[in-house]
Amino acid sequence: MGLRTDSVTKTYDKGSHPALWHFTMDFEPGIYGLLGPNGAGKSTLLNILTANLSADRGRVLWNGEEIHKAGQSYRSILGYMPQQQNLYDEFSGDEFLWYLASLKGLKKKVAASKINEMITAVNLEEARYRKLKGYSGGMKQRILIAQAMLNDPELLIMDEPTAGLDPNERIRITNFISRMSQGKIVIFATHVISDIEFIADRIILINHGKLLKVASPEELQNSIAGKVYEGIISKDDTESLRRLGVLISNMHYVGARVKVRIISDSQSMTDDWRQVDPELSDVYLYYER
Ligand code: ADP
Repeated sequence: MGLRTDSVTKTYDKGSHPALWHFTMDFEPGIYGLLGPNGAGKSTLLNILTANLSADRGRVLWNGEEIHKAGQSYRSILGYMPQQQNLYDEFSGDEFLWYLASLKGLKKKVAASKINEMITAVNLEEARYRKLKGYSGGMKQRILIAQAMLNDPELLIMDEPTAGLDPNERIRITNFISRMSQGKIVIFATHVISDIEFIADRIILINHGKLLKVASPEELQNSIAGKVYEGIISKDDTESLRRLGVLISNMHYVGARVKVRIISDSQSMTDDWRQVDPELSDVYLYYER
């Protein structure tokens, strides 16, 4: 089982720059974190992968077959969790899942057992018959995941599944995604690094519509080993660093001095600088600059 994007390119009608540019990649079972700033092209890619949007050029293939040609057979293996926008407020969780099950064309018996299974899986038994408008952000995300999984998808695509959640809910949702993902291809978009740090098998760095790098979190961190430093310097020196084009990762003002974390390609750093282990946020800055 595999998903392949082959040179997928998209420019919107009024856009002067491509939203996605020759995006080529092979996806195998595992969790992929699609990471990039706002406007990087994440939603465009997800909309193309879910066949909600057509690319100008390039192809998306599921098991070798072009997804628009595959049609219903592609939709039957696809689960999509959109961004949390208009949930049907007056529906209960149960009604919402029944509605989505009918849209997906599930038979009544199959739908009944799948809805029971998913309600339990996302831990919403107690809220099952309550209206969605009374759900917390985390509960809404969980019911959206539940609907995406009703058809037992082989390919699960999620757009910012942790948007608007507090830190505890974030952790619960990412752990949940990890648990539900066995044997599937899971692709989820985020601009929050901590969401994917622990659960992504591969991180796809994207910006300006271009694929910058794909690797495991560890490989990404290793790829900039020896380039990250910390030092305590004067405020004036921070200005000179900027002028030199050094990437500043973090700054913490301590009285008249500043504790700075930088990423530098230079091999000859002075003794003021202590080499430190790269974090994923450093990687992000390094490749997304
Ligand atoms: P992300 O999901 O990473 O924030 P998007 O895929 O939404 O990025 O956007 C990529 C680029 O395409 C941005 O420059 C954005 O302004 C543009 N864009 C997105 N959707 C549309 C649209 N419907 N019409 C015109 N431009 C769009």
